[in-house]
Amino acid sequence: MTSKKTATRMFMLHYGAEPSPKSISVRGAADGIIWCPIIGIAVETEIGRVLLDTGIGRALLEDEASRTGIYASKEQPWGVGEDPFLTALERVGLRPRDFALAAVSHLHVDHTGGLRHLAQAGVPISVQREELLFARERAGLGEAYYRPDYVDAGIGWRELDGDAELAPGVHALSTPGHTPGHMSYRVDLPETGTWLLAMDAADLAENLNDRVPPGPTADPSDAGRAEASLRRLLGERDRLDARLVPGHDTVFWRAVEHPAGGHR
Ligand SMILES: [Zn+2]
Repeated sequence: MTSKKTATRMFMLHYGAEPSPKSISVRGAADGIIWCPIIGIAVETEIGRVLLDTGIGRALLEDEASRTGIYASKEQPWGVGEDPFLTALERVGLRPRDFALAAVSHLHVDHTGGLRHLAQAGVPISVQREELLFARERAGLGEAYYRPDYVDAGIGWRELDGDAELAPGVHALSTPGHTPGHMSYRVDLPETGTWLLAMDAADLAENLNDRVPPGPTADPSDAGRAEASLRRLLGERDRLDARLVPGHDTVFWRAVEHPAGGHR
């Protein structure tokens, strides 16, 4: 499954930010609100560009009833520019049609915002089969899924069953728990080496440092799988001598350099 090839270059994308009780990010934490960046990743590979996760969408931001149904706090999420997805891509000089493939770690509302744009541009989207099934058949606003982003959106799904190579140097790692078909990513680069992008299997550095998984799982019976996925990522980090990036950590986002020309 694993090719030894690396990707060429990686850009970190910033779609916006969302307020969230800390107990969502860290099991057993207090309910106070923290602000979480909403991020994505664009990777250049030898088969073309691959986009990992699509942020929060304009449709949800403009749909007050659904938005406040998901975000119960007085504070509300925001996105960059008029259309967060298009704006975040523009900031690194890209448009939806520039991608050969996209993937989505899971179908929570803060990850699905750009799926329609990609569908319109004819870009296929990789997702775990189990995640798509849960999102279609069981999930709704109560689980923080926004169906207009992914139902009847003309999306060309590429369904995965577990780990997969998405492109040379870009891999999906099955990390279920936060949601039933959650996946993380591995990107291998020529100069900076291996990056593991936990996405929501570890929101904050605190999850990694204290080995505490995120809070409630979309399927309440998945708490054990969330623990196993966190252990898996920490194990892969040590095995691969990789940089492990939490999915929603403001401190991390501000602390690392985001080179204008991308990571190599
Ligand atoms: Zn999530």
